Amino acid sequence: MPQRVTCSQCGHLLYEGVDLKPPDEIISKYDGKCPKCGRKLALIPVNVEIKPCK
Ligand SMILES: [Zn+2]
Repeated sequence: MPQRVTCSQCGHLLYEGVDLKPPDEIISKYDGKCPKCGRKLALIPVNVEIKPCK
């Protein structure tokens, strides 16, 4: 099943392909924002937590 990622605001196609790409890779490819409307990209809830070291 191909993956398709579009901007949630303007619908600009950000990525389409058969390979699944991690969202952060797609976001970093566009420098964190949509090249068309400039919306900050937050495609998928980023599953990263920053925790203090113990
Ligand atoms: Zn956009």
